Amino acid sequence: MTLLEGRALAAGIRERAAAEAAAGPAPVLAAVTATDDPATAWYLGSIAKAAAATGIELREERCADAAGVLERLDALSADPGVHGIICLTPLPDGLSLSLAGERIAPAKDIDGASPASLGRLAAGLEAYAPATAQAVIELIRISGTNLEGAHAVVVGRSTVVGKPLAMLLLAEQATVTICHTRTRDLAGETRRADVLVAAAGRAHLIGAEHVAPGALVIDVGTNEASDGSMVGDVDTAAVEPIAAAVTPVPGGVGPVTTAILLRNAVAAARG
Ligand code: NAP
Repeated sequence: MTLLEGRALAAGIRERAAAEAAAGPAPVLAAVTATDDPATAWYLGSIAKAAAATGIELREERCADAAGVLERLDALSADPGVHGIICLTPLPDGLSLSLAGERIAPAKDIDGASPASLGRLAAGLEAYAPATAQAVIELIRISGTNLEGAHAVVVGRSTVVGKPLAMLLLAEQATVTICHTRTRDLAGETRRADVLVAAAGRAHLIGAEHVAPGALVIDVGTNEASDGSMVGDVDTAAVEPIAAAVTPVPGGVGPVTTAILLRNAVAAARG
C-alpha cells in the first residue's frame, strides 16, 4: 500500500502560482468570516501563511451577522481591487453557503460557492469548482489512475464537496455513484469502486469491508478525535493492506485544497 501524500503536490502548485503572481497583477483575495470557531481560524491561518508565501494579499473581512456577510459580499464583488472571494463556514444561523455564494460575482468565486458556478459546472461550462473537489481530481491524477471508464464512488452529496466532485469525475469520463445516509448498502456500493472518495465527515466510517482490493481511496474527511487530533473518514490502518493507495489525514486533500485556492486566486487576478 502506498500513502498518497498531498504536501509535495501542493508545494508544486503553490510554486507555479507564485511564479504567475510575480508576473502581475498582484492578486488580492478576500476571506469573509462570521465565526469564532477555532477550526475556521486555523484554516484561515493556513491560507494566510500560504498566501503570503505565494505573493497573494489576503484580506480578512470579519462580519457580525448574516446581513453583514451579504453586504460585505456585495461590496467585495463590486470592488475592482479584489480578485477572489471566499466565504468561510460556519455562517450565522439562517445563512447557508449557497445563499451567501449567490452574492459572490462568478468571476471572483474562486472556491465555487455560488449556485451559478455549480450550475455552470453541471452544464459543462467554464467555472471554478470548489477547491476541495479540484484537489481530489489532482490527487487521482498524480496517483496515475486512469479515470476513463473507471467506477468512482463518492460518499457524501454536499454542495461543497460531493456534488461538484461527482460532476468533475463525470467530466473525466468516470462512471459515478454518489452515496449518502439513505444509501441502503454502503459497503456493497463502495466495494464496487475503482476510486473511492470519502467525504462524509464521519471518523473512520470507511473500513476494510468497504474497499475492493487495489482500489484508490481518497479521504476528504476532517474529524476531531477524542484526543483532539484530526482523523479522516477512512480507517487507514484497516484499509492499508487492501487498497492500492490511500491519502493521509492530515497531509492529503487539505494542503492541495489550499494550494488550489491560491492558484484560482492568481487565475482570477489575471482575468
Ligand atoms: P456535510 O455537508 O456534512 O455532508 C456530508 C455528506 O456525507 C452528506 O451528504 C451526508 O449524507 C453524507 N454522510 C454522512 N454520514 C454518512 C454515512 N454514515 N453514510 C453515508 N453518507 C454519509 O459535509 P461536507 O461539507 O461535504 O464535508 C465532508 C467532510 O469533508 C467533513 O469532514 C469536512 O470537514 C471535510 N472537508 C475537508 C476539506 C479539505 O480541504 N480537506 C474541505 C471541505 C470539507 P446526507 O446528505 O444524507 O446527510
